[in-house]
Amino acid sequence: MDNTTAERPTFVTHLECSMTGKSYPADKLHGLSEAGKPLLVRYDLDGLGKALSRDKLQARPADMWRYREFLPVRQAGNIVSLGEIMTPIIRCRELARDIGGGALYVKDEGRLPTGSFKARGLCLAVSMARELGITAIAMPTNGNAGAAMAAYASRAGMQSYVFCPDDTPSVNVREIAAQGAEVWMVNGLITDCGKIVGGGTAETGWFDVSTLKEPYRIEGKKTMGLELAEQFGWDVPDVIFYPTGGGTGLIGMWKAFDELAQIGWLGEKRPRMVAVQASGCAPIVKAYEDGADHAVPWENAHTVAAGIRVPAAIGDFLILRAVRESNGFAIVVDDDAILTSRDEMARREGLLLCPEGAATYAAYKKALASGLVAENESALLYNCATGLKYELPAVDRAIDRHQPIDYTSL
Ligand SMILES: *Cc1c(COP(=O)(O)O)cnc(C)c1O
Repeated sequence: MDNTTAERPTFVTHLECSMTGKSYPADKLHGLSEAGKPLLVRYDLDGLGKALSRDKLQARPADMWRYREFLPVRQAGNIVSLGEIMTPIIRCRELARDIGGGALYVKDEGRLPTGSFKARGLCLAVSMARELGITAIAMPTNGNAGAAMAAYASRAGMQSYVFCPDDTPSVNVREIAAQGAEVWMVNGLITDCGKIVGGGTAETGWFDVSTLKEPYRIEGKKTMGLELAEQFGWDVPDVIFYPTGGGTGLIGMWKAFDELAQIGWLGEKRPRMVAVQASGCAPIVKAYEDGADHAVPWENAHTVAAGIRVPAAIGDFLILRAVRESNGFAIVVDDDAILTSRDEMARREGLLLCPEGAATYAAYKKALASGLVAENESALLYNCATGLKYELPAVDRAIDRHQPIDYTSL
């Protein structure tokens, strides 16, 4: 039966401040906690484990909504969906052999609606916004989140307002506009755009769906962990490389593994979580290296990997906690390495990564070379968006069809 139309039992009990543990009621509108920190959704996992089995799950259509019992939407009628398929895991044998590493996989999230894994979070956030009666939503974005929000909001009949740094890739800005959002370019960074959204929510009543400022995007991103564990036969790879901006996916996956373990579907093994950032914007890596619990906002943030150009993340302590608890690490790569890695993956494996995805491959190579990752460890890289959204090197070779062609020179 269709996962988006079948009514299924739900198990949300309450929300909880990720910092203080204070409890908040479910089924009400929430932003940050009183402590100004992200709220996490909590479930009756005992009940969930009794209501759903792995076999039952296996029989459902292969999309994100097969995990309904792990998600907060109460009524199927509120689901706003564009076909959030399970994304493939692609093994890279050639590259693994070239660089002498263990099993290497790419999780290709570029196949999702709107071409990025932001669809997971925004699909959930917009569905919950509909369930809670919201009609206008707003966010700051480096591109992909805004595109996903615009698409789901339009589908739900909601107004959406998007603010991007003025150097956001132009295809992203156009995509956001084409999908029905009101979009503006701002002469600043995503954090500056966030301040504009904050002002607008206070004055106009827009609901702020900034990363981790509302509690449901992370539940959508959590499906990355559920899906990965299921695809690995209820197991996990040894190491996960995650391109980290706001960190929702990393935090979400960590939450997923915890919930799965609590219902007995996953054993003790956890992947080592690796936060990958670009050398031009690496607040999490700096905090990790300094042994700090929180990151210091990064000055003059710049990188070709726009999706991870986030100078300050409100969930910084949650990212750092997951990285440390998992015995992972945070690592930086520079833009040259990102572009070279994109090239290598495309030419050798036929996979066109987005720059952020390429950053994870660059980081994997660096970690392997320095011994941070062992040769016998399996590694999974997140390609979070389709490579087609990004500028590629120009091609200017042409053939004059009226002249003889020297085929040997081609
Ligand atoms: C948003 C985004 C990221 C960062 O994801 P977070 O979960 O916010 O850290 C990485 N890559 C791309 C392409 C993105 O759009």
